[in-house]
Amino acid sequence: MITAGEAIRAAAERLAGISDTARLDAELLMAHLFGVSRSELLLRHLRAPAPPGFAALIERRATCEPVAYITGVQEFYGLPLIVSPATLIPRGDSETLVEAALKCKPDALRVLDLGTGSGALLLAVLAHLGKAQGIGIDRSEAALEIARANAAGLGLRPQAQFLAGDWHAAGWSDGLGTFDLVLCNPPYVEADAALDAQVRDFEPHSALFAGPDGLDDYRVLIPQLRALMNQAAVAVLEIGANQADAVSALAAAAGFATRLHRDLAGRARALVLG
Ligand code: GLN
Repeated sequence: MITAGEAIRAAAERLAGISDTARLDAELLMAHLFGVSRSELLLRHLRAPAPPGFAALIERRATCEPVAYITGVQEFYGLPLIVSPATLIPRGDSETLVEAALKCKPDALRVLDLGTGSGALLLAVLAHLGKAQGIGIDRSEAALEIARANAAGLGLRPQAQFLAGDWHAAGWSDGLGTFDLVLCNPPYVEADAALDAQVRDFEPHSALFAGPDGLDDYRVLIPQLRALMNQAAVAVLEIGANQADAVSALAAAAGFATRLHRDLAGRARALVLG
């Protein structure tokens, strides 16, 4: 018999070449098989026999498949979210947007999330804004289903509505009304960017790439924002680390003042337009 602890050690070695977090990955996959949290696993299960399915999960990870797609869950802003290959995996960096939004608009009543994916940004904000109602828009029906399941799982179904829409199509925002807070993590990666295999080969390209300079979606969206915003509203956009100047210029051309927020690594990450 090999124990869970021994299997994790061997798996961490197997994954060392493809992951900077090989040991953590192995622990998360083992915790998933036991149906417990990682801390519970480490406290109580390391001496138990390794479950038979573990090797197969490690082989999937060894092809660079992200841990979150194997387990089907990713934590974001303290919330357990369902994810699938139809949605981008919510990044810790994007928590910068939630913090900026809650700081700028703690009294928001209507919230819009453009390109909602798993619903991560909208649901994290709604979980902290007692009375707010939110709408999440995505062009992917498969993503909308995940977002709705997340709202239900978090008890936020009464506050959150998820609708199909594509900001490249005329009339997509008809009837939405206006909002106090607009959130958006659009695709913003340059078409020829060198992404990690676990991103490039597994995450939805429609959620990542936005033309040669990564700015295509901002060019289309930013001029449409004002019509969706109430008088004192703000829009919080995620940006790539080198895009602050270019996106600020697009915002200024549309009549917005901007404020930059950095992520925990000190990179430009969120731009607040008001
Ligand atoms: N931050 C993501 C990445 O670098 C990109 C997310 C996006 O394009 N919205 O993989």
